[in-house]
Amino acid sequence: LADEDRESRPRLMLMGLRRSGKSSIQRVVFHKMTPTETLFLESTSKINKDNIQYVWDFPGQMDFFDPTFDTTAIFGEVGALVFVIDSQDDYMEALARLHSTVVAAYRVNPNITFEVFIHKVDGLSEDYKIDTQRDIQQTTTDELADAGLENVQLAFYLTSIYDHSIFEAFSKVIQKLIPQLPTLENLLNILCANSGIEKAFLFDVISKIYIATDSSPVDSQSYEICSDMIDVIIDISSIYGRAAIGAKSQGYLDDQQDQSDDWTHQQDGHDDYEDSNGGGHGHSQAVVSNSSRAGSLNNQPAQSGGNHEAFSVIKMGNGTVLYLREVNKYLALICLLRAETFEKQGLIDYNVHCFKEAMDQVFELKRAERTRREMEANQ
Ligand code: GDP
Repeated sequence: LADEDRESRPRLMLMGLRRSGKSSIQRVVFHKMTPTETLFLESTSKINKDNIQYVWDFPGQMDFFDPTFDTTAIFGEVGALVFVIDSQDDYMEALARLHSTVVAAYRVNPNITFEVFIHKVDGLSEDYKIDTQRDIQQTTTDELADAGLENVQLAFYLTSIYDHSIFEAFSKVIQKLIPQLPTLENLLNILCANSGIEKAFLFDVISKIYIATDSSPVDSQSYEICSDMIDVIIDISSIYGRAAIGAKSQGYLDDQQDQSDDWTHQQDGHDDYEDSNGGGHGHSQAVVSNSSRAGSLNNQPAQSGGNHEAFSVIKMGNGTVLYLREVNKYLALICLLRAETFEKQGLIDYNVHCFKEAMDQVFELKRAERTRREMEANQ
């Protein structure tokens, strides 16, 4: 999400008892730390307003009755409050804290959505996970109902920093805060329907959170594959660089006339895919083709302009194609489709192009507003 949007974007607050995992979650999701590195983090003991402004990390032992604690200022501007509970520990104290937090925050701002992360579930067996979720959910909603707060918007997620669950939970949380979501979803539905795409995600590349998807159900596996694809592309572009990868498909990007050449190149790739077809499925990537601008998927935002967006295709041994296209500096569209469908790549490219134009229109008003502000600031 763009720097310029920081001011206006919805705030998200992270709370929970000490050692519940707040700092780790933040580091893994927003700072790309590996889960094992979090073992050496210092526990949160003061309010930490992250430079990624939509996450605030709060100490769990905060006292709402402390007169220096300004609940109105803090909860007033929050869109979502994420409360982290360590599921591997005795969670009674955490539940009491969750209850008092919800009561205090709801009083100030009834529009907050409360998101409970039942965290560190990597240590629990499948059965125990479900029992724990049921118990936490039941206790929390019962107690809130007793307090007369049955209308609170409350959702529960099982999370761990050791797998994709934490990214998926954050995706769902953030989506609730995006006002354009229904429009984006609709555009993705149209794209999928007209192109034979099975599933499409719009990813924030840096955090690997998806901010929208078409309305067909999300299965975790598709999300994981797409999210892994971003890693693959970033790795490849940082190893080989833009120039090396770009040499092959430059023509395509520079000039639409050259599409047929590139198509030939794709056909070559198709043979590789056939070869590997017998070799099982899953993550066997047969072909990775990539555009000249894949480098822009690195942390450096791309320069604006024209048709020069990153685009890459991974064909997997199980007959699925992953198609990634950069939408703007921060967002990438990733589609999952059958290899047969991908034979009509021209059509898909065209539809994706239309999708991008529509996206631009959705955000046009916002951009016009921003330009106006910039001009004012420069005067
Ligand atoms: P904070 O005080 O809430 O900020 O908690 P920390 O982020 O410092 O985490 C406390 C401990 O929990 C650290 O040793 C982390 O490595 C560990 N931790 C965090 N998330 C997970 C998780 O998903 N699974 C497991 N097993 N441990 C975790």
